[in-house]
Amino acid sequence: MTTASDAHATHRGDWLDFPDVRLVRTLAGAVIQLADLGSLSSFKLPYPAEAQRALDRTVLACLLRGAEEVPRSLPELLFWCHTRPLEDWPLDLPPDAFGPDDYLVDPEALVPTQLCHEWWIRGKDAGAAQFDREVVHTAMRLCRKASSPESYVAFRRLLVERPVLTGVERFETDTDLFLAPVQELLDQCYAPVPASYEFEGTYVTCGRCLTMLTPVAGGTWWCERDRCRRRGAPPHGRTLGGTEAAGLLQLVRPLRQFVTSPGRAEVALEARLSALGLEVQLWPGFDAYDLRVTFPDGYVWAIDVKDWKHPGLLGRSAKPVRPEPPYNESCWVAPREQVESHRDYIGTYRRNRPLSAEGLPLLTDDRLVTLATARLRGTNDPHLTDPAPTNGTDRA
Ligand SMILES: [Zn+2]
Repeated sequence: MTTASDAHATHRGDWLDFPDVRLVRTLAGAVIQLADLGSLSSFKLPYPAEAQRALDRTVLACLLRGAEEVPRSLPELLFWCHTRPLEDWPLDLPPDAFGPDDYLVDPEALVPTQLCHEWWIRGKDAGAAQFDREVVHTAMRLCRKASSPESYVAFRRLLVERPVLTGVERFETDTDLFLAPVQELLDQCYAPVPASYEFEGTYVTCGRCLTMLTPVAGGTWWCERDRCRRRGAPPHGRTLGGTEAAGLLQLVRPLRQFVTSPGRAEVALEARLSALGLEVQLWPGFDAYDLRVTFPDGYVWAIDVKDWKHPGLLGRSAKPVRPEPPYNESCWVAPREQVESHRDYIGTYRRNRPLSAEGLPLLTDDRLVTLATARLRGTNDPHLTDPAPTNGTDRA
């Protein structure tokens, strides 16, 4: 068993010393490209170039490691993707990189997993364009130009609370004065819902995530968000058929995954902290950070909420919370369920965190609420710090 001091002895940024980390990204890219071309269950030769490259490199990596089994074709490789968690592939990967549920293709729905999309998008070089960030930055610039921080908050709320819009609802957003500065940007954010989401003439949204559910064999519905699926069958939100189904729009995937999903967590945390009687501001200063929490004595916490499946990628991207609007203490917060689904989420985050973000603790949402409650009661003057290392999970 690895002790805390062993873990800290592992030198930082060591992920790229594992040659197959890049291969996982290539695989993720190939799976997503194939899914975009159609079904993940039928292919014709020649295979698309990216898929062929992923297959060739996987075969080489297996041979290098003397693996007994090697995927011989693209169908075999995809079979691995939905039957074998990545930790069971004969690849040279960091020991803390993947857990037993980490598949590239969902075993049930046979579509790329959230983890797969995360690796494909977040695994890219830091300089690579990232659509979700570009959209959010564009909104920020447009709202600054209009001197309207309210417009920026309205835009973010729309993306978090309305990931699906009927034709009529889209029309209503056209007349929302707060959204005026970002009208044209909205056309880049919402796209028609593809037919693959329709079953017997109707579309269904998830009651928890508000995003579209995908119909799967047996007449059941599947939610694309990992954290939602772990909580059991998705409750049905809206059922949309007939005229509502015509002209139906949804946010494009990078925005659903990187804005709506963490946004749900941000809005939920805002509600919990407000319920304690604290003053909470969402996305202050044109989104300098996610939540600004002011205590009755004027003491301020600055919080960024991160809903990532993968704590290693999260740690590698850690950077201090922006200094303005000013605050006394800051931290990153991850949903407790996300943390508990990994055998050492906080520890993995910490081991991958760069030196420049050494002072940035990661807490669960529950722990943050506990600390806020304690601070309000005046007990022990609690501070936002890394929890003591435990056997895997961070409990409040
Ligand atoms: Zn859901």
